[in-house]
This record gives sequence, structure tokens and C-alpha cells, in this order.
Amino acid sequence: MSSLDDLYQQVILDHAREKHGFGLRDGSAASSHQMNPTCGDELTLQVHLSADGQTIDSLSWEGAGCSISMASASLLSDLAAGMPVTDAPARIALFRELMRSKGAGVDDDEPLGDAAVLEGVSRYIARVKCAMLAWVALEDSLAGLR
Ligand code: ZN
Repeated sequence: MSSLDDLYQQVILDHAREKHGFGLRDGSAASSHQMNPTCGDELTLQVHLSADGQTIDSLSWEGAGCSISMASASLLSDLAAGMPVTDAPARIALFRELMRSKGAGVDDDEPLGDAAVLEGVSRYIARVKCAMLAWVALEDSLAGLR
């Protein structure tokens, strides 16, 4: 239990510091701006697609907020790079299920990669929106592609 808590803390701190994908770039296919007024988190996320439009080449984002919101955006950037566009909705749904699990987790969190470590956030209902922010931005961006 405590080692999982330590891992959770460490991953969040690392990603809140490193912020993979941070910095907006030209040439995005879609973007979304999302705010979480409860905590004061805010971010703009851009989706960059492969040449054939079938794969998420990378995400880029900028924003400010608590370490959970920043770490989650960073973890999502790692996860989404190279992901088929058609796979994204199911991953977002799985992450949402994990965040709503109140600490119980989901049967198979492997599709979430390192982002599964955010499971610990689901025990703190007030922080779930922080963790969801970037994922909602991706969901909203992809909806704009259709
Ligand atoms: Zn927050």
C-alpha cells in the first residue's frame, strides 16, 4: 500500500516537473481549451496527427494548475503518441472509469500505461477533475475532428 502510494507520488512529481508534451506547436489537427474552476487548473491541448490522419503522432499542451493536472497531461502525452485515433475513445473511457472507481481500480489498466498510476487520485473525489482535465481536452479535440 505505502509503496504504491510512494510510486504514485513519485510519478506525479516527476511528470509535474518534466511535463512531457508541454509547449504548443504549429500544425495541429485539433485543439481544446479546458478549465477546472474548482481547483484553478487550465490547459490547452493540441492533437497532431500522422500524415494519413489515422494515428495520433503527438500531443502538445500548455497550461497551469496543480501537480495532478499537470502530471496527468504529461502522462497522457506519453500514452497518446502513436495511438490509432480510433483507439483513443476507449482509452479515455477506461481512464474515466478508473477515476470514478473510488480507489477500487479497473479490471485491466494495462491499456493506460503509466497513467494507471493515477488510480490513487480516484480516492479523492475533489481531485478527479484535475486528473481528467487533459483527457477531456483530448476527447473534445477528437470530437472536433469529425
Ligand atoms: Zn487541480
